[in-house]
Amino acid sequence: MDFLFLGTSSGTPTRTRNVTGLAMRSGRRWILIDCGEGIQYRLMHSPLSPVHLEAVLITHLHGDHVYGLPGLLGSMSMLGRKMPLVLVGPAELEAFLKPIIELTQLRLSFPLLFKQAGPDLDLELLGHKVSAIELSHRIQSFAYGFTEKSPPLHLNIAKLKQIGVPDGPILGQLKRGETVVWNGQALNRADYCLPQCAPLRFAIGGDNDQPQRLAEFCQGADLLVHEATYLHADWQKVGPGPMHSSAQMVAEMAQACGLRQLVLTHFSPRYADSKGQGSWVGDLKSEATQHFSGPVFLAFDGAHFDLDAYGNLQSQPSWLT
Ligand SMILES: [Zn+2]
Repeated sequence: MDFLFLGTSSGTPTRTRNVTGLAMRSGRRWILIDCGEGIQYRLMHSPLSPVHLEAVLITHLHGDHVYGLPGLLGSMSMLGRKMPLVLVGPAELEAFLKPIIELTQLRLSFPLLFKQAGPDLDLELLGHKVSAIELSHRIQSFAYGFTEKSPPLHLNIAKLKQIGVPDGPILGQLKRGETVVWNGQALNRADYCLPQCAPLRFAIGGDNDQPQRLAEFCQGADLLVHEATYLHADWQKVGPGPMHSSAQMVAEMAQACGLRQLVLTHFSPRYADSKGQGSWVGDLKSEATQHFSGPVFLAFDGAHFDLDAYGNLQSQPSWLT
């Protein structure tokens, strides 16, 4: 699974960071989580085609997470999209979009399939079962949890080579469970597979001042993408009003529940991208690593991560062109 960050600033954009948007891609298929203003400009500089977008999941209805959605829908319509688009979010998502669509006479060329986030969400995307976990914010906000439905099988190539099986279509037949006869011997797939990987599990959080709400889902999970709007000292100065998290708060929860890897995003515009005078985003990483012993990654616009079949997150070259 690929994660491509399209916007990583909280509240307002900066010269280098757009407001929130995260694409998740598996092959050519992809979905979008949150769609702040300007996300469609970012998409133009990415390898992602709106034609193949399967679903948009909105964590909450604050503008920096949703103001880009009407424009994106309009553009997809002008491109002649026919495939239905699944829209997942708080109940008010439909109430937000319907008047905009009517008042601006947006005649969509494709149907919208609304699904309400909540405990009853019944959804499968990109080969994963999707759940919604309610968070704590000034407005109803959700995290989306993803659990892989069927982890891919990996053949034990070394064992197959030992009996002389060559590369080629025979390996594909064996992987698909078809009957394969080699040198007069019927090969049983179960005898030539590596131990099955555990299903991947990861969560993408919306705005939230209580990371512990994710503790149960994140117990031993592979990855959490979560906001870290502030350094903890700044979080204390700002006070509880904005209802965001500090890097320390997220890291402490991650450590307590045995999470494997953490990506922080949604940084306050007060933090510079590079070290100079004052605080910079690197300080957020330093703070998180003091409280979480696993790998910590900082998101930036153009950041590209790959979560492999074994649940290891690898940083990839920026997708931004
Ligand atoms: Zn936000």
